[in-house]
Amino acid sequence: IEESEKFRIEYWALEEAKLQRMPKPKPLATRVALVTGAGSGIGRAIARRLAAEGACVVIADLDATNAQAVADELGGPDRAVAVTVDVTSEEQITEAFKAAVLAFGGVDLVVNNAGISISKPLLETTAKDWDLQHDIMARGSFLVSREAARVMIQQELGGDIVYIASKNAVFAGPNNIAYSATKADQAHQVRLLAAELGEHGIRVNGVNPDGVVRGSGIFAGGWGAQRAATYGIEEEKLGEFYAQRTLLKREVLPEHVANAVFALTGGDLTHTTGLHVPVDAGVAAAFLR
Ligand code: NAD
Repeated sequence: IEESEKFRIEYWALEEAKLQRMPKPKPLATRVALVTGAGSGIGRAIARRLAAEGACVVIADLDATNAQAVADELGGPDRAVAVTVDVTSEEQITEAFKAAVLAFGGVDLVVNNAGISISKPLLETTAKDWDLQHDIMARGSFLVSREAARVMIQQELGGDIVYIASKNAVFAGPNNIAYSATKADQAHQVRLLAAELGEHGIRVNGVNPDGVVRGSGIFAGGWGAQRAATYGIEEEKLGEFYAQRTLLKREVLPEHVANAVFALTGGDLTHTTGLHVPVDAGVAAAFLR
């Protein structure tokens, strides 16, 4: 055989051996998920879906009462535990992962979902607004992913990290420079971590939802009113307004975002990493705002 052909065969044999050693994705019923911000809105919907698929879930939220309510709803300590955590604190994140390992023996699926939204025009956005927004979403998700990677690499079982970013990671909208900039940061974390953690069998993907109006604490907390004012419509009509401008004429609800997390982590997308799945009924595809 020619030298180059010998090299090719040896190369592929090595690659094949490497693949064999890689941890394979496990069914959700055997997995332990930690979801930040799971006491409310989209995070709660994700926790519900993962639990319905049989995963044990750690409800990690700043709001202890909401987190406990979700853990109770999902079946209590054998299936779901609540952990109070502020994602701006390295110590609290470490403690949250320790609690997860103590409760369920490990963690192999982590969802970076916790967030707030400071939506202001540029000239009204203070340095403090910028810092708070970035502390929670850009720095917070980096810290959570770093701890997730530490635990998953040590377990040698691979795993999934999912970021709930936003269509704002890609598209510019008015009056939310601080929020959108953190979402773009998160989107790049997905690609960077996919590149760095792939060799450990850890997949890193993102979900980019459109504006989720009903069931979202962020919208109820002021964003909705601000958007309604921007578009000159009543706040109650915002869901319908958002739906009508999509290609599918469908409103995005928290459970639709949860469906995407399930598709990325529980289905057959075993060879997908570094991807952002839009859950926006076509808004990004058609460059609609
Ligand atoms: P939400 O307010 O209902 O939920 C956010 C949760 O994060 C809350 O339970 C809150 O207590 C928790 N949280 C806030 N700060 C925290 C901190 N420092 N540490 C730990 N937990 C903290 O909001 P939501 O709409 O469900 O948003 C969830 C995620 O989805 C956010 O990252 C948001 O940016 C993203 N998102 C939302 C929309 C939308 O339209 N609602 C669209 C795209 C992306």
